[in-house]
Amino acid sequence: MDCKDSIKIKGLEVYAGHGVFAKENKEGQMFLIDAVLFTDIRKAGLSDDLSYSTDYGEVCHFISQFFRQQPFFLIEAASEQLAMEILLAFPLIFEVEVRIHKPHAPIGLPFSDVSVEIRRGWKKAYLGIGSNMGDKKRYLEEAIGKIGNHRKIRNVECAEMITTAPYGGVKQDDFLNSAIGLETLLTPYELLAFLQELEGEAGRERLIHWGPRTLDLDILFYQDFLSDAPDLTVPHPDMENRMFVLEPLSQLCPYYLNPVTGKCVKQMLMELSKEMEK
Ligand code: ATP
Ligand code: CA
Ligand code: CA
Repeated sequence: MDCKDSIKIKGLEVYAGHGVFAKENKEGQMFLIDAVLFTDIRKAGLSDDLSYSTDYGEVCHFISQFFRQQPFFLIEAASEQLAMEILLAFPLIFEVEVRIHKPHAPIGLPFSDVSVEIRRGWKKAYLGIGSNMGDKKRYLEEAIGKIGNHRKIRNVECAEMITTAPYGGVKQDDFLNSAIGLETLLTPYELLAFLQELEGEAGRERLIHWGPRTLDLDILFYQDFLSDAPDLTVPHPDMENRMFVLEPLSQLCPYYLNPVTGKCVKQMLMELSKEMEK
């Protein structure tokens, strides 16, 4: 996903009714749309075969149709929705930059253009998942199923489920743990909110810290996102002390680097294994 190739569309004209004033919705005006489609074009370049690339003509028609479909008050909203829909409709585009120009905006002063530009894309994330109450396997499987069904999540992969002894000193039943890899259009906080929704649906109650739970979903890594906020600390700060995290995670991404420590998952796992042998 770090490929720098792109296809650029500039000045696509679309007549539509976006705006906060009723007159704008009724009469409409001309908008100009630019889009940069980030996609790996090497294969298409070598083979000269369109099926390995994204048809920019198709993208232009898609943008034009989407843009005329429903009026938004704000070009901010129109660009947000448009970027999402492009990423969902054209899977080879891993990132998109959308700029919407509104040169006839009713400002009441002479000006040449006003525009909004955003960049959105699929982000790689890794999650830890665990349960130690009730039908643990079913809680894990149901959550994985729901994660896979989310519209803004794709390419979900799971490590094997492993049974592990409880962590953190509270006397309780063994855990069933695993790790999940995915790509998502959700921001880190949107992803966290979704995971907490799933925990709620599994009847999770927070009674004792590190106590028994039907379902626990933690964000371990989210692309290159770094945060030390208490409500969302990423990368997960305690991963290097947890066998039940590192073991399944190393099946999915042994060489993924923790940007805070500079250590990859495999190295953290080897160091912890050695530590535990002492
Ligand atoms: P631990 O995070 O040490 O494994 P826990 O999973 O038992 O502990 P919870 O009770 O599930 O902790 O979560 C407590 C709070 O942790 C949540 O409300 C959430 O906002 C916050 N939190 C901070 N960082 C993360 C993260 N990376 N993933 C999930 N929740 C996080
Ligand atoms: Ca946890
Ligand atoms: Ca948690």
